[in-house]
Amino acid sequence: MQFEPNFWQTKSLLEMTDSEWEALCDGCGKCCYRKYIQGRGKRQKLYYTRIACNLLNLETGKCGHYEARFRLEKDCTKLTKKNLPDFHWLPATCAYRLLYEGKALPKWHPLISGDEQSVKNAGIFIADGVHENDVIDWFEFVIDEE
Ligand code: SF4
Repeated sequence: MQFEPNFWQTKSLLEMTDSEWEALCDGCGKCCYRKYIQGRGKRQKLYYTRIACNLLNLETGKCGHYEARFRLEKDCTKLTKKNLPDFHWLPATCAYRLLYEGKALPKWHPLISGDEQSVKNAGIFIADGVHENDVIDWFEFVIDEE
C-alpha cells in the first residue's frame, strides 16, 4: 500500500483514511495484554501485565482469530476515531496514543524504519507473555510500565 509521505505528520488522526489509520498500528500486540485498575480518584493506578488475551499469538503479537475476535472475546475493543479520547489505557509506545498526545512516532516504528522487525529489535514486544487461561494469580505478572 502506498501512502502519502509522512502522512502521520501532515494529517490529524481524524483526517486519516482507513488504510492510513490501520498502518499506524506497529503490531506490538501490547494492547492485547490485560490491565487492571486499582484504587479510585487520584489514587487510581493502571497496571499493565504480561497476561495476554487467549487469542493472542505470543510469538508474533498478532491476534490468532482476528476476524472473529469480537465474537470470541467480549471485551475486545476496536480502536476507532470515535473512542480516541479513551486511548489513555494504551501503552505509552502505541502510535495511536502517541499521536493523540501530540508526540512523534519513534524511529523503530515500521512506517519510519520500513521494517516490521524493528519493533521486535527495539524490545517493544512483551517478553515471557502468558495466556490468561494459564494464570492463577494476576499479581505475579504485573509489569512496570506507564
Ligand atoms: S498497542 Fe497500539 S501499536 Fe501496539 S498492537 Fe495495539 S494498537 Fe497496535
